[in-house]
Amino acid sequence: MKEFECEYCGGVIQPKKVTVEHWYESKLVIIRDVPVGVCGECGERYYEAATLEQLDAIARESESAQERISVPVMAFALS
Ligand SMILES: [Zn+2]
Repeated sequence: MKEFECEYCGGVIQPKKVTVEHWYESKLVIIRDVPVGVCGECGERYYEAATLEQLDAIARESESAQERISVPVMAFALS
């Protein structure tokens, strides 16, 4: 991914590999080592179109995942 400026703050976008929480057809899949551009100032992530397609393709294979986690789901209210 080539360097460019953040469209929100003008910061420099740098290539990184991150863990992405990706929703696909109402299922949540955690995908590691996703190549993205990250703004050094505000942290905004930029995905290439091919990367987003790959995330969907990986999510479609999620039944074969070797690792699973359970996560709490909460409403925005404190009891
Ligand atoms: Zn930014």
